[in-house]
Amino acid sequence: MAKIELVLGDITQMDVDAIVNAANESLLGGGGVDGAIHRAAGPQLLEECRTLGGCPTGEARITKGYNLKARHVIHTVGPIWRGGQHNETVLLRNAYVNSLMLAHKHGLKSIAFPNISTGVYHFPKQSAAHIAIRAVEEFTAKNRLPERVVFVCFDHENYNIYKEILG
Ligand code: ADP
Repeated sequence: MAKIELVLGDITQMDVDAIVNAANESLLGGGGVDGAIHRAAGPQLLEECRTLGGCPTGEARITKGYNLKARHVIHTVGPIWRGGQHNETVLLRNAYVNSLMLAHKHGLKSIAFPNISTGVYHFPKQSAAHIAIRAVEEFTAKNRLPERVVFVCFDHENYNIYKEILG
């Protein structure tokens, strides 16, 4: 089982093999954590993203990290919360698992996740945290890499929810 860490802070500052971006399907930049990652990585990140042709909800794509400390960015698209009857739970889990699978495939040892979908996409934070933690625990129980997973919470509410669940 991987070492799971919890951090309150800015994911763009993380020194890991990959930070995960909560992107939108265009992969052409947005607000929130997406905007922060593109600002910190520099314009070459957007140039590489333009070559990818977007990413469906629940899937993931990998790029270089450019000016970030992180060597790679794994871009994934979480679901927009539309009341809970539109496959949101499965799609959020897929976003985590597909990001982990890409990290595994590329031999990455460390990965940092933001709280996908809990910003402008309005997924309820408590259930999003349970889905995220379960996905990571199940994946890392079966796979040697990544061996270090960091949940980076930007707001105190998410941080406290994760702290409670992780113990
Ligand atoms: P989504 O569209 O998936 O909801 P957002 O970027 O709006 O994406 O929010 C996802 C999460 O990322 C939110 O919990 C938000 O507080 C958090 N966030 C925003 N900026 C940063 C940052 N620089 N580092 C880490 N997390 C961030």
